[in-house]
Amino acid sequence: MTPPRTSLVIDAPAKVNLYLYVLGRRADGYHDLETWMQKIDLCDRVSLEVIEGPARVEFACTADSVPAGPDNLAARAAQAFFAACSPKSDCGIRIALDKQIPVAAGLGGGSSDAGAVLRGMNELFGSPLESDELLRIACTLGADVPFFAVDIGAAVARGIGEILHPVPSLCDCRFVVVNPPIFVSTAWVFRNFPLTTEVKPSKLSCFQRHGSVSSLLSEMHNDLEAVTAAKYPQIDEIKGMLGDLGAARVLMSGSGPTVFGVFPDGSASAVEDLGAAVEELRNRCRAKVYLSRAYTGASPSGKAPGFDPGIRRFESFRPSQC
Ligand code: ATP
Repeated sequence: MTPPRTSLVIDAPAKVNLYLYVLGRRADGYHDLETWMQKIDLCDRVSLEVIEGPARVEFACTADSVPAGPDNLAARAAQAFFAACSPKSDCGIRIALDKQIPVAAGLGGGSSDAGAVLRGMNELFGSPLESDELLRIACTLGADVPFFAVDIGAAVARGIGEILHPVPSLCDCRFVVVNPPIFVSTAWVFRNFPLTTEVKPSKLSCFQRHGSVSSLLSEMHNDLEAVTAAKYPQIDEIKGMLGDLGAARVLMSGSGPTVFGVFPDGSASAVEDLGAAVEELRNRCRAKVYLSRAYTGASPSGKAPGFDPGIRRFESFRPSQC
């Protein structure tokens, strides 16, 4: 396996969950979900460099809040890549991770880093893996990794993340993303989610029903929000602040604690200058505050306003999350 290039720098964008439904608990303990995810332009930066040493993985990171060695999801993705494509590789990889996405925030940072490593290494080594194989590896690393391993801006993920339907990106909106300094255990949130026997029909048809992407905002929902908000009053406080700024919709992302407001372009907002209001919010509250847009580095699906009828499905894997 000889690399046509020797280095590459790649974005690893965060995501927000525009809707998230917990459909049930599986026999293996994982949860079946249906979730609409949007990549946003708050990005980690992953630098990859081919080095000598067969299948050797070197890893360095700017943040001390994530594992520094082989346990980091980015390093694990590299090991999985080498294991899948060529155990006899002459080369290794050096990964430098510049961490900008808050950790354990519900923004998918670790999964995105892993997806970026898989995509970047496949490009660096001349595409030895077909996209199906890349997605199969992604599935073994975590439920959100497949979404980040493909070049799409937004998708509905179902099952435990293995079924992906590309949907149009919300390009005509700004997202104000607020990450308070509290630790929320994803496992705790799922444990405390009150499962019922209620059958929840798939929401996928809403992408055909709604004429415009912005009218889809009425579909925003997060089953997990009530669980996290009941323990952490900061969630509702931040929702109130974003509501005061004139957000069209406000929601918690993933299992939290990050909360985001959606501000469609051209809509009458409570504040004239959203950038200045965000700056004020930053100074006023003890939280990280970001003003973002949809991530446009990924190719748009080109299918607006419809959706693709399921691009990938893998049944036999065990993701490491949820
Ligand atoms: P999700 O929304 O997919 O549930 P999250 O945003 O809540 O993810 P992450 O930032 O991905 O959470 O971190 C989850 C855990 O993964 C943390 O405990 C962290 O230490 C670990 N981790 C391993 N590698 C990374 C990485 N590259 N970046 C962030 N966290 C990582």
